Amino acid sequence: MTVSPASDEAAYRRAAEMLTAADAIAVVGHLRPDADAIGSVMALTLAMRQLGKTVTPMIGQPYPVAPNLLTIPGAGEILLGEEIPDVDLVVTVDCGSIDRTGVLTDEVAAYRDRLLVIDHHVSNPGYGAHNLVDVRESTTSVLRELFHYLGVELDESIAHALYAGLVTDTGSFRWGSPAMHTLAAELMDYGIDIREIAEELLDKTSPADLSMIGRALANIRLLPAGERTVAVIMASHKDIRTHSGAAVERLIDFVRSLDGCDVGVVFKEQYDGGWATSLRSTAINVADLARSLGGGGHAEAAGYTVYGEAEDVVNQLLESVAEIRGEAGES
Ligand code: 5GP
Ligand code: MN
Repeated sequence: MTVSPASDEAAYRRAAEMLTAADAIAVVGHLRPDADAIGSVMALTLAMRQLGKTVTPMIGQPYPVAPNLLTIPGAGEILLGEEIPDVDLVVTVDCGSIDRTGVLTDEVAAYRDRLLVIDHHVSNPGYGAHNLVDVRESTTSVLRELFHYLGVELDESIAHALYAGLVTDTGSFRWGSPAMHTLAAELMDYGIDIREIAEELLDKTSPADLSMIGRALANIRLLPAGERTVAVIMASHKDIRTHSGAAVERLIDFVRSLDGCDVGVVFKEQYDGGWATSLRSTAINVADLARSLGGGGHAEAAGYTVYGEAEDVVNQLLESVAEIRGEAGES
């Protein structure tokens, strides 16, 4: 299976043809969804309904998504951990690998011949019948381009969903190409309230969440890995289980760019004992690092999931960092 090169018009046309030909569509975003996942699921769902399709939005986890993400239009109707209904086409959005579809992985794999992959992760291996993988700022940016091919008219709800992915995956427009600002300007024309969206998705917090963040920050460790230094936060299930997903996801921003450190890492212990791991760096390519550990992502922001004792998973990571040579993007 091949991955279409970025901005390949034929790849967009083929994706639009597959969507146009289908009547019933399931749209699947990644587990432990972020705003790009939920924004992409809902933007595509609403857009395809506009074209008269029957669309089922889905996430492959049996537990609820972070409440702040439910402010994205329609997100409350996303099915969580249920079986894929009988459809003509399954579309995964923002899923850099098939296992990101969580408990739906086997069902998605069974649809392989009728599977459309829409994503922006450079590490995506291409696991669909067609793979529209365009390394833009967000999966919602890829969808906006695709909507040109489909003749979808944007409205306030679709613009809100698209903006949700754009503002969060660009770190509030801190990284990305000039196109991210052009897209933001276009979406604002549909009357979205960017202040409220940013407050819901990025800023809102509670005193209890701040205490949790404070405890986590007090326990940051700076650990050597060969010639590099890694800043590590361990967030045990006990520490984070009663706190909002949004607050937990904010921890990585404190170690993203820490003086004297080359890599920032947050290990987040899940219900099942696995560690969902976030990696950030501008010194090494963490997409490659994550891939070597079974995950994926972008050169500067990536992640993977690992099982084991806390100290073992930290040591495994330090060893992998120590083995890496060269600067970001070179490897
Ligand atoms: P975050 O640290 O915000 O959860 O994720 C950063 C980036 O890494 C995102 O683009 C996300 O899709 C990717 N990523 C995070 N965890 C995993 C994982 O377990 N597997 C894969 N393939 N990608 C991941
Ligand atoms: Mn994304």
